[in-house]
Amino acid sequence: MLPLKNMPSPNFNSRDGAVVSALVLHYTGMQSSQDALDILCDRQAQVSAHYVVDEDGTIYSLVDEADCAWHAGVSYWRGSKNINNISIGIEIVNPGHRLGYRRFPQVQMDTMAELCSGIIGRHAIKPVNVVGHSDVAPLRKIDPGELFDWKWLAGKGIGLWPVIRNQKSEIRSQESEIIVNLAEYGYEKPKNDEELSKTIAAFQRHFRPSNVNGVWDGKCLLRCLQWCSFPPPDGRMVARRSSVRGEGGRKVRASRKAVAGNARLGKPKGKCYRKYTACYTLASKGEKVR
Ligand SMILES: [Zn+2]
Repeated sequence: MLPLKNMPSPNFNSRDGAVVSALVLHYTGMQSSQDALDILCDRQAQVSAHYVVDEDGTIYSLVDEADCAWHAGVSYWRGSKNINNISIGIEIVNPGHRLGYRRFPQVQMDTMAELCSGIIGRHAIKPVNVVGHSDVAPLRKIDPGELFDWKWLAGKGIGLWPVIRNQKSEIRSQESEIIVNLAEYGYEKPKNDEELSKTIAAFQRHFRPSNVNGVWDGKCLLRCLQWCSFPPPDGRMVARRSSVRGEGGRKVRASRKAVAGNARLGKPKGKCYRKYTACYTLASKGEKVR
Protein backbone atom coordinates (compact mmCIF):
# COMPACT_ATOMS: atom_id res chain seq x y z
CA MET A 1 0.00 0.00 0.00
CA LEU A 2 1.46 3.32 -1.07
CA PRO A 3 1.75 6.02 1.58
CA LEU A 4 -0.54 8.89 0.62
CA LYS A 5 -0.70 12.39 2.02
CA ASN A 6 -4.24 13.66 2.31
CA MET A 7 -4.79 17.07 0.76
CA PRO A 8 -8.55 17.26 0.19
CA SER A 9 -9.74 19.45 -2.66
CA PRO A 10 -13.28 20.88 -2.71
CA ASN A 11 -13.32 20.70 -6.51
CA PHE A 12 -15.26 17.57 -7.38
CA ASN A 13 -18.77 16.30 -7.96
CA SER A 14 -20.60 13.00 -7.95
CA ARG A 15 -20.12 10.66 -10.91
CA ASP A 16 -23.87 10.07 -10.92
CA GLY A 17 -23.42 6.38 -11.45
CA ALA A 18 -20.86 6.63 -14.28
CA VAL A 19 -18.28 3.85 -14.24
CA VAL A 20 -14.56 4.64 -14.30
CA SER A 21 -12.99 3.33 -17.52
CA ALA A 22 -10.02 5.64 -18.19
CA LEU A 23 -6.87 6.94 -16.56
CA VAL A 24 -5.65 10.40 -17.63
CA LEU A 25 -2.10 11.57 -16.90
CA HIS A 26 -1.11 15.24 -16.75
CA TYR A 27 1.78 17.41 -15.75
CA THR A 28 1.13 20.26 -13.35
CA GLY A 29 2.85 22.94 -15.45
CA MET A 30 3.65 25.04 -12.40
CA GLN A 31 6.88 26.20 -10.78
CA SER A 32 6.54 23.99 -7.69
CA SER A 33 4.41 21.22 -6.30
CA GLN A 34 3.13 23.61 -3.62
CA ASP A 35 1.93 26.05 -6.30
CA ALA A 36 0.09 23.20 -8.00
CA LEU A 37 -1.47 21.91 -4.77
CA ASP A 38 -2.60 25.43 -3.86
CA ILE A 39 -4.43 25.82 -7.18
CA LEU A 40 -5.87 22.31 -7.19
CA CYS A 41 -7.32 22.85 -3.70
CA ASP A 42 -8.58 26.40 -4.34
CA ARG A 43 -12.36 26.48 -4.65
CA GLN A 44 -12.17 29.50 -6.95
CA ALA A 45 -9.87 27.74 -9.40
CA GLN A 46 -12.42 24.99 -10.10
CA VAL A 47 -9.74 22.46 -11.02
CA SER A 48 -8.51 19.33 -9.31
CA ALA A 49 -7.20 15.82 -9.81
CA HIS A 50 -7.48 12.65 -7.81
CA TYR A 51 -3.75 12.52 -7.14
CA VAL A 52 -0.62 14.64 -7.41
CA VAL A 53 2.75 12.89 -7.68
CA ASP A 54 5.67 15.07 -6.61
CA GLU A 55 9.16 14.84 -8.09
CA ASP A 56 10.46 13.14 -4.93
CA GLY A 57 7.78 10.46 -5.23
CA THR A 58 5.39 11.83 -2.60
CA ILE A 59 1.77 11.15 -3.53
CA TYR A 60 -0.99 13.52 -2.48
CA SER A 61 -4.59 12.35 -2.47
CA LEU A 62 -6.99 15.18 -3.33
CA VAL A 63 -10.27 13.63 -4.46
CA ASP A 64 -11.81 10.25 -3.68
CA GLU A 65 -11.72 7.90 -6.68
CA ALA A 66 -15.48 7.44 -6.33
CA ASP A 67 -15.99 11.11 -7.17
CA CYS A 68 -15.42 13.07 -10.36
CA ALA A 69 -12.38 15.36 -10.23
CA TRP A 70 -12.08 18.31 -12.60
CA HIS A 71 -8.89 17.71 -14.56
CA ALA A 72 -9.62 17.06 -18.24
CA GLY A 73 -12.03 19.85 -19.22
CA VAL A 74 -13.51 19.66 -22.71
CA SER A 75 -12.36 16.26 -23.87
CA TYR A 76 -13.05 13.21 -26.01
CA TRP A 77 -11.85 9.63 -26.10
CA ARG A 78 -13.34 6.64 -27.90
CA GLY A 79 -16.82 8.05 -28.22
CA SER A 80 -17.02 9.55 -24.72
CA LYS A 81 -17.13 13.30 -24.29
CA ASN A 82 -17.11 14.03 -20.58
CA ILE A 83 -13.87 12.27 -19.72
CA ASN A 84 -13.79 13.67 -16.18
CA ASN A 85 -16.86 11.67 -15.33
CA ILE A 86 -15.36 8.34 -16.40
CA SER A 87 -11.74 8.79 -15.43
CA ILE A 88 -9.17 9.03 -12.69
CA GLY A 89 -6.81 11.98 -13.12
CA ILE A 90 -3.20 12.13 -11.95
CA GLU A 91 -1.19 15.35 -11.97
CA ILE A 92 2.54 14.68 -12.21
CA VAL A 93 4.67 17.53 -10.91
CA ASN A 94 6.73 19.12 -13.69
CA PRO A 95 7.11 22.81 -14.64
CA GLY A 96 5.90 21.98 -18.14
CA HIS A 97 6.77 23.53 -21.49
CA ARG A 98 6.15 27.11 -20.33
CA LEU A 99 8.31 27.08 -17.20
CA GLY A 100 11.19 24.75 -17.95
CA TYR A 101 10.04 21.33 -19.09
CA ARG A 102 12.34 18.64 -17.75
CA ARG A 103 12.65 14.89 -17.44
CA PHE A 104 10.48 13.12 -14.90
CA PRO A 105 12.77 11.74 -12.13
CA GLN A 106 12.85 7.95 -11.82
CA VAL A 107 11.60 7.99 -8.22
CA GLN A 108 8.59 9.97 -9.41
CA MET A 109 7.97 7.53 -12.28
CA ASP A 110 8.32 4.54 -9.95
CA THR A 111 5.73 5.69 -7.43
CA MET A 112 3.45 6.98 -10.17
CA ALA A 113 3.58 3.56 -11.87
CA GLU A 114 2.67 1.84 -8.63
CA LEU A 115 -0.21 4.24 -8.14
CA CYS A 116 -1.40 3.62 -11.73
CA SER A 117 -1.25 -0.15 -11.32
CA GLY A 118 -3.51 0.04 -8.29
CA ILE A 119 -6.01 2.29 -10.07
CA ILE A 120 -6.06 0.10 -13.20
CA GLY A 121 -6.64 -2.98 -11.08
CA ARG A 122 -9.39 -1.40 -8.97
CA HIS A 123 -11.35 -0.17 -11.99
CA ALA A 124 -10.36 -2.75 -14.65
CA ILE A 125 -9.15 0.01 -16.98
CA LYS A 126 -8.16 -1.20 -20.47
CA PRO A 127 -4.62 -0.40 -21.69
CA VAL A 128 -6.01 1.63 -24.60
CA ASN A 129 -7.74 3.90 -22.11
CA VAL A 130 -4.56 4.91 -20.30
CA VAL A 131 -3.96 8.27 -21.94
CA GLY A 132 -2.43 11.70 -21.62
CA HIS A 133 -4.34 14.96 -21.34
CA SER A 134 -3.06 15.75 -24.85
CA ASP A 135 -4.71 12.58 -26.16
CA VAL A 136 -8.17 13.52 -24.89
CA ALA A 137 -7.82 17.26 -25.63
CA PRO A 138 -5.28 17.46 -28.49
CA LEU A 139 -6.44 20.88 -29.67
CA ARG A 140 -5.80 22.53 -26.28
CA LYS A 141 -3.28 20.51 -24.30
CA ILE A 142 0.24 19.15 -24.69
CA ASP A 143 0.75 17.47 -21.29
CA PRO A 144 2.32 15.29 -20.02
CA GLY A 145 4.46 15.84 -23.13
CA GLU A 146 7.17 14.12 -25.11
CA LEU A 147 9.53 13.67 -22.14
CA PHE A 148 7.03 11.48 -20.39
CA ASP A 149 8.17 7.89 -20.81
CA TRP A 150 5.10 6.04 -22.06
CA LYS A 151 7.28 3.22 -23.34
CA TRP A 152 8.78 2.55 -19.92
CA LEU A 153 5.31 2.73 -18.40
CA ALA A 154 3.94 0.19 -20.89
CA GLY A 155 6.80 -2.09 -19.90
CA LYS A 156 5.41 -1.93 -16.37
CA GLY A 157 2.03 -3.10 -17.65
CA ILE A 158 0.44 0.34 -17.87
CA GLY A 159 -0.95 1.42 -21.24
CA LEU A 160 0.03 0.38 -24.74
CA TRP A 161 3.23 0.72 -26.68
CA PRO A 162 3.46 -0.25 -30.33
CA VAL A 163 6.23 -2.58 -31.41
CA ILE A 164 7.80 -1.72 -34.73
CA ARG A 165 8.05 -4.81 -36.87
CA ASN A 166 9.23 -3.63 -40.21
CA GLN A 167 11.80 -0.89 -39.84
CA LYS A 168 12.30 -0.50 -43.55
CA SER A 169 8.75 -0.28 -44.71
CA GLU A 170 7.53 2.99 -46.05
CA ILE A 171 3.84 3.16 -46.57
CA ARG A 172 2.03 6.12 -47.95
CA SER A 173 -1.38 7.06 -46.81
CA GLN A 174 -4.15 9.41 -47.80
CA GLU A 175 -5.24 12.08 -45.38
CA SER A 176 -8.61 10.39 -45.02
CA GLU A 177 -6.86 7.17 -43.94
CA ILE A 178 -4.80 9.01 -41.35
CA ILE A 179 -7.98 10.43 -39.87
CA VAL A 180 -9.60 7.01 -39.83
CA ASN A 181 -6.57 5.51 -38.11
CA LEU A 182 -6.41 8.19 -35.45
CA ALA A 183 -10.16 7.99 -34.86
CA GLU A 184 -10.12 4.21 -34.66
CA TYR A 185 -7.51 4.38 -31.98
CA GLY A 186 -9.56 6.85 -29.95
CA TYR A 187 -8.86 10.45 -30.95
CA GLU A 188 -11.67 12.80 -31.86
CA LYS A 189 -11.96 13.17 -35.63
CA PRO A 190 -10.15 16.35 -36.71
CA LYS A 191 -12.33 18.70 -38.77
CA ASN A 192 -9.69 20.69 -40.64
CA ASP A 193 -5.96 20.79 -41.37
CA GLU A 194 -5.06 22.62 -38.17
CA GLU A 195 -6.94 20.13 -36.03
CA LEU A 196 -5.40 17.24 -37.93
CA SER A 197 -1.89 18.58 -37.33
CA LYS A 198 -2.55 19.00 -33.60
CA THR A 199 -4.03 15.52 -33.34
CA ILE A 200 -1.03 14.01 -35.14
CA ALA A 201 1.24 15.92 -32.73
CA ALA A 202 -0.68 14.46 -29.78
CA PHE A 203 -0.22 11.00 -31.24
CA GLN A 204 3.49 11.68 -31.70
CA ARG A 205 3.90 12.96 -28.14
CA HIS A 206 2.54 9.69 -26.90
CA PHE A 207 3.83 7.14 -29.40
CA ARG A 208 6.75 8.71 -31.27
CA PRO A 209 8.22 11.36 -28.99
CA SER A 210 11.50 11.74 -30.90
CA ASN A 211 9.85 13.88 -33.55
CA VAL A 212 6.80 15.88 -32.57
CA ASN A 213 6.04 18.13 -35.51
CA GLY A 214 2.40 17.50 -36.34
CA VAL A 215 3.39 16.36 -39.78
CA TRP A 216 2.41 12.98 -41.05
CA ASP A 217 5.43 11.19 -42.42
CA GLY A 218 5.11 7.93 -44.20
CA LYS A 219 8.17 6.48 -42.57
CA CYS A 220 7.50 6.54 -38.86
CA LEU A 221 4.05 7.61 -37.94
CA LEU A 222 2.30 5.52 -40.50
CA ARG A 223 4.38 2.56 -39.49
CA CYS A 224 3.12 3.02 -35.99
CA LEU A 225 -0.45 3.13 -37.14
CA GLN A 226 -0.54 0.53 -39.85
CA TRP A 227 2.33 -1.86 -39.32
CA CYS A 228 2.59 -1.74 -35.61
CA SER A 229 -1.08 -1.58 -35.36
CA PHE A 230 -3.38 -1.12 -32.48
CA PRO A 231 -6.10 -3.31 -31.13
CA PRO A 232 -9.51 -3.14 -32.71
CA PRO A 233 -11.91 -1.11 -30.55
CA ASP A 234 -12.88 -3.79 -28.09
CA GLY A 235 -11.15 -6.85 -29.35
CA ARG A 236 -8.03 -8.66 -28.44
CA MET A 237 -5.50 -10.10 -30.77
CA VAL A 238 -4.67 -13.77 -30.70
CA ALA A 239 -1.36 -15.37 -31.35
CA ARG A 240 -2.56 -17.97 -33.83
CA ARG A 241 -1.96 -17.06 -37.42
CA SER A 242 -2.80 -18.12 -40.89
CA SER A 243 -1.34 -17.10 -44.21
CA VAL A 244 -3.51 -15.06 -46.50
CA ARG A 245 -2.98 -13.19 -49.69
CA GLY A 246 -2.38 -9.47 -49.42
CA GLU A 247 -2.64 -6.73 -51.96
CA GLY A 248 -1.12 -7.70 -55.28
CA GLY A 249 -1.19 -11.34 -54.30
CA ARG A 250 1.75 -10.90 -51.93
CA LYS A 251 1.77 -13.54 -49.28
CA VAL A 252 1.56 -12.04 -45.85
CA ARG A 253 0.60 -13.32 -42.49
CA ALA A 254 -2.39 -12.33 -40.49
CA SER A 255 -3.96 -13.59 -37.33
CA ARG A 256 -7.16 -15.51 -37.78
CA LYS A 257 -8.85 -13.16 -35.39
CA ALA A 258 -7.72 -10.21 -37.49
CA VAL A 259 -9.04 -11.70 -40.69
CA ALA A 260 -12.30 -12.53 -38.99
CA GLY A 261 -12.38 -9.03 -37.53
CA ASN A 262 -12.04 -7.48 -40.94
CA ALA A 263 -14.76 -9.66 -42.33
CA ARG A 264 -16.97 -8.62 -39.45
CA LEU A 265 -16.28 -4.98 -40.16
CA GLY A 266 -16.99 -5.52 -43.83
CA LYS A 267 -13.44 -4.75 -44.80
CA PRO A 268 -11.81 -6.41 -47.79
CA LYS A 269 -9.37 -9.05 -46.62
CA GLY A 270 -6.37 -8.06 -48.66
CA LYS A 271 -6.62 -4.37 -48.00
CA CYS A 272 -7.20 -3.55 -44.42
CA TYR A 273 -6.39 -6.50 -42.28
CA ARG A 274 -2.80 -5.45 -41.77
CA LYS A 275 -3.98 -2.82 -39.41
CA TYR A 276 -5.14 -5.51 -37.06
CA THR A 277 -2.41 -8.02 -37.61
CA ALA A 278 0.97 -6.74 -36.67
CA CYS A 279 2.25 -6.73 -33.18
CA TYR A 280 1.64 -4.55 -30.24
CA THR A 281 2.27 -4.92 -26.59
CA LEU A 282 -0.72 -5.78 -24.56
CA ALA A 283 1.01 -4.21 -21.67
CA SER A 284 -1.50 -4.89 -18.97
CA LYS A 285 -0.92 -8.59 -19.35
CA GLY A 286 2.79 -8.19 -19.86
CA GLU A 287 2.60 -10.27 -22.99
CA LYS A 288 3.46 -9.53 -26.56
CA VAL A 289 0.69 -10.31 -28.95
CA ARG A 290 1.50 -10.69 -32.61
ZN1 LIG B 1 -3.49 18.47 -17.99
